[in-house]
Amino acid sequence: MTSREVSLKRAEELNKYNEPFENAKKNIIRGTSYAFRVRYAVQKEKIMAMLGGTDDEWDSWTWQIKHRTEDLDLLSEVLHLTSGEREAIKKVGEKYRWAITPYYLALIDPENPRDPVRLMSVPSVEELDESGVSDPMDEEHTNPAGVITQRYPDRLIINVTNACAMFCRHCQRRRKISGYDSDSSAKEIMDSIQYIRENKHIRDVLITGGDPLTLRNGFLEDLIAEIRSINHVEIIRIGTRTLVTMPQRITPAFVDILQKYAPIYINTQFNHPQEITRESVAACNRLSNAGIPLGNQMVLLKGVNDDKHIVRLLNHELLKARVRPYYIFHAKQVIGTAHFGTSIDDGIEIMEHLRGYTSGMAIPTYIVNAPGGGGKTPMQPQYIMDKNEDFVTLRTWEGKIVKYPNNPVCHHD
Ligand SMILES: *Cc1c(COP(=O)(O)O)cnc(C)c1O
Ligand code: SF4
Repeated sequence: MTSREVSLKRAEELNKYNEPFENAKKNIIRGTSYAFRVRYAVQKEKIMAMLGGTDDEWDSWTWQIKHRTEDLDLLSEVLHLTSGEREAIKKVGEKYRWAITPYYLALIDPENPRDPVRLMSVPSVEELDESGVSDPMDEEHTNPAGVITQRYPDRLIINVTNACAMFCRHCQRRRKISGYDSDSSAKEIMDSIQYIRENKHIRDVLITGGDPLTLRNGFLEDLIAEIRSINHVEIIRIGTRTLVTMPQRITPAFVDILQKYAPIYINTQFNHPQEITRESVAACNRLSNAGIPLGNQMVLLKGVNDDKHIVRLLNHELLKARVRPYYIFHAKQVIGTAHFGTSIDDGIEIMEHLRGYTSGMAIPTYIVNAPGGGGKTPMQPQYIMDKNEDFVTLRTWEGKIVKYPNNPVCHHD
């Protein structure tokens, strides 16, 4: 065989690796597909009519937040709910808050009780299960000042609010989110800034919550300007799920503010390809075009995205929207979210089917948060099978075992 023939044969072999994904992909609904757009348009009209809204109002984030659905009767008109499901929502509602933005509600397939967006937003009876812990992050013991959480030497989190555009059913901060909306006080914020000012090691500040983008532009600008004025702070990051649940929040005025205080990074949380819609992509584009790099922090959720094909498709869709898949978080056992739990093996299996199969750019790091505030810990399939001073035995993505010198050696070719 000529080398061209060998290469062609190899290319054919490689094609075979792609087939299971290509087949699975046909059955995963994408938020940019025609079928989705048709369904979304119908649901949007229906919801707007019920709320008495206009297209312009739909596109306004203040309207979206003000008209969050917290009403079971309205929900039952938009989605097909059995009487058992209605009963469950009522019961869960007495214990945990729920609210869904009209936009996010319109993403749900009204006839599918297992719709991934529905699982993330509509309460289910499984939330009444009491197993799990309430503070697995141990955030109470990593709070050196104000509303700061610090677990690392050179970076920290500042929690500016516990309000969110909507209440994700899988929220890992449920303990803090689901009571009532409260923004951190001016004193708490000032104490936090003061701590950062005095700690010269802090070069990376993450603004998070809750969702900081529930706050007004003016407040956010003051806060960002204050942090930016600290010489040793190199980068600012904002964590928000509004790109997913309320993309209307990313207004040109807001983007203009961010642009002034570059470098700013935004991390968001898309969990399923159905969430990547024309609207959310437009919001991503406004940010990317202004030079704000975007990252995604997926949460691994049973029934939503615990599937290697869904995760791969999600990451492809993200890259098309210029969002870099950054982390996959293993879901902790937070009370009320146990039904979303997967095993770490499930997560590693997904990672196994990314490396080699798809662009390195589409491969995030799979993270388990170590108990007791121990920090983010990467989980990986095993690629080092054996190791001594002279040799490392490697396993390639295809499962080939190869020996590789451990120490630098002289090459005489
Ligand atoms: C996640 C987290 C960070 C940021 O971690 P990176 O790995 O740098 O993204 C910083 N501080 C705290 C407390 C965190 O939980
Ligand atoms: S946006 Fe984040 S903090 Fe808010 S409810 Fe959803 S997961 Fe929790």
